[in-house]
Order: sequence, then C-alpha cells, then structure tokens
Amino acid sequence: MQRRCVEVFESKFIKHDNIDGFLEYPKKSTERPKIYLNKDRPTQRKKFTLAHELGHFILHNSAKRKYRIDNLDYSQSNKETKEETDANYFAATLLVPEKKLRSILGLSKGDIEFAAEYFGVSKPVIENRIKWLQKNK
Ligand SMILES: [Zn+2]
Repeated sequence: MQRRCVEVFESKFIKHDNIDGFLEYPKKSTERPKIYLNKDRPTQRKKFTLAHELGHFILHNSAKRKYRIDNLDYSQSNKETKEETDANYFAATLLVPEKKLRSILGLSKGDIEFAAEYFGVSKPVIENRIKWLQKNK
C-alpha cells in the first residue's frame, strides 16, 4: 500500500488574509497533497485548521478539485455545507478524544474553558464536541 503523506506549510497570505488555510490536492499520483496554514493565525487556530484540512483530505478526496480553501468561522456555522461540518467533526474528534474529554470535564466539574486550554483548542470547539457527543449517544 502506498503511504499517504501530507506536506504542511505555514505562510503569509498577504492578499488573502481572510483565509485560514487550504488544501492542495496532488496533480499527479506521485505528488503529495499539501496543506498551507495562515502563519498569522494563533497556534490553536492553526492546529484546528490543520486537523480540518486533514479531514477534507481523508474524507473528501476528490480527483476533480485542485484546491479546497477554508475560512473557518464558527459564527457562520449555520451556512456550513455538509463537507465543512464533516471536516469540523473530524478535526474536533482528532484534537479532543471523547474519553479524555469526559475525564477532563469530570475533573474540572464541566469547566469548558479549562478543557479548551487543556486540549489547546477554542471554547467553541469544546462546545461543539460536547454537542456532537450528546447527539450521538
Ligand atoms: Zn473546510
């Protein structure tokens, strides 16, 4: 089986600073997919964007697309497409494992801010993760 590697870069998106990151699908089978992250974003945001783009790569690999560009704004979550929701779900699941989250929330008496700091993600990521866990019980 061929190893599936992804190359990750951080760069300044001078003319497109609204973009958090993007995934570039390989043009040939010998090429690796590349994920570019906006260097000017805070670390926790870059981490989530990386996990989100990985989600797109794993879940939505498409021969027809060259790029997938993302601006992950939680306030716009009602406008999200199914694929964006899936990639966010993938990222939250990867960064915030269920068992560890339950244990951290138990120890902190449900302190979402503490959990966000523990996992190095934003509060909305923890809130959404809890919401999804309750939905999929
Ligand atoms: Zn996306």
